[in-house]
Amino acid sequence: MKNIENKFPGKDVSKEDIATKFPLCAKKHKNHKSKFKIAGVEFGGKNIPIFAGPNMVESKKLILDIAKNVKRNGAHFLRGGAFKPLTFPYRSNKYTETRELGIQWLKEAKKKYKIPVITEVMESKYIPLVSEVADILQIGSRNMQNYPFLIDCAKSGKPIMLKRHYGSSLRDWLGAAEYIMLHGNRKLILCERGVSVPHTHRETSRFLIDLQVVAAAKELTHLPIVVDPTHATFWRPWVESMSLASVAAGADGIMLEVHPNPSKAAVDPLQSINYQEFKKITKKMDVIAKKIYRRKII
Ligand code: PEP
Ligand code: MN
Repeated sequence: MKNIENKFPGKDVSKEDIATKFPLCAKKHKNHKSKFKIAGVEFGGKNIPIFAGPNMVESKKLILDIAKNVKRNGAHFLRGGAFKPLTFPYRSNKYTETRELGIQWLKEAKKKYKIPVITEVMESKYIPLVSEVADILQIGSRNMQNYPFLIDCAKSGKPIMLKRHYGSSLRDWLGAAEYIMLHGNRKLILCERGVSVPHTHRETSRFLIDLQVVAAAKELTHLPIVVDPTHATFWRPWVESMSLASVAAGADGIMLEVHPNPSKAAVDPLQSINYQEFKKITKKMDVIAKKIYRRKII
């Protein structure tokens, strides 16, 4: 291994960084793009895959209903956490992680509606269990720089989505991605999900969507970059416009939280959209994708 220099570490990416710190993630030339398939769905090419589903896999009935509806309306992957990073530890039983049970329900939904699954894994010891159902392991923002965990996920051989931490630079994000690539895992997708900034324009909004990072990432890395307008806005009425803007900005995929009755969602009830909204937004995103990029969503 080369002994890399870190004489001038900066918060943004330098030429030296590109050459020495993330050579596997860095573009080799201007048009270099990673293209690969996961569960038959192409990434980095003509498709802009949609990941849709609840924040949390709350019950079997809920996940089956959502799987049926999002699949029908254009989703390529069913999302939903059985293992969840919950900001505060005090929650009633009704609102807590469904863990092993949630994984079983995801399995049933996947089988019944023939839709691949992305779900979060939070600890190395659960990688085998989560991998029983996950077509993509989601590494959440809070774990983005947990390097031993990144390596364990990489070694599982499962495709990975690496969500950006809300306080991290593109430089740190690509450094984390490099760990995964270095450990042999090349089916890697990045996901922007909002960053912490002084103003988010609503009391209840915690983050700001960083669409500039899509353009910046595309300059530096060949990896596909997905945007999650749900977590970024934290506010349902803003999800549509920011989804359309994400596609216009060049996102390679979109993650959306969908719930039949969003205000009753067990986690983050302000941010989920309902089935009708999902259908409408997906159609509009498809128009933008086709008109601007000759890419397609549905
Ligand atoms: C999620 O997608 O369910 C999630 C917890 O996202 P993040 O890690 O971006 O907060
Ligand atoms: Mn969340």
